[in-house]
Order: sequence, then structure tokens, then C-alpha cells
Amino acid sequence: MICAICRRDARGFGFEPRLIGVPAPAVKLCSRTCQNITTRLKGMINPNIHERSALLDASAAGGTYVESLGRTDLATWTPEEWATLIDVVITRFQDSLRTAYAEDPPF
Ligand SMILES: [Zn+2]
Repeated sequence: MICAICRRDARGFGFEPRLIGVPAPAVKLCSRTCQNITTRLKGMINPNIHERSALLDASAAGGTYVESLGRTDLATWTPEEWATLIDVVITRFQDSLRTAYAEDPPF
């Protein structure tokens, strides 16, 4: 399971929106920090402005990586090239979120 907020490993934290009368699915979380964010959002986990921005950043980083390979035929990629793409995208997404929340803490 991954944390619904930061996408790191969930570590025994969670949030059950139905307990406060919000009809949303339960989520797994990694920490009290992400639990507090979820509680503040009343369980809603639709992407917020920082997450949407992080997705755009991650998309741009992935595109840059693909361009660096010089091959857009995905069937020709090695397992290492695929793994690097995933690493580039996830790392940029997480870094973008950390930067955004450092400048605009959600609590
Ligand atoms: Zn988290």
C-alpha cells in the first residue's frame, strides 16, 4: 500500500472519512503529517493545486528523459530505460510536492 498523499510506503496510518460523515473511501497513509493533511481535506484526495503542478513537472521530466533516449518506440526500450523513466517521473513528482509544501505548508 502507498500513502494517498505523498505516494511513499503507507506505514500503519489511515483515515476513514465515513466516521465523520463524509462519503469517501478509506485511505492508507505513511505518517501523522500525511494523516493531518488528509484530515484537513476531510478525506478528499482529488489532486490539489500542488499535486496537479507536481504531475505537470513529472510529465515534463519524463518527456525530457524520453527525448534524451532519442527513441520513442517504447518496444525498443531496455528494462533499465523503463526503470529510469519511472524513477525520473516519481522522483520529480515527490521533489515537486516537497518543494510546494515547504513553501506552502498545508497545516
Ligand atoms: Zn505520506
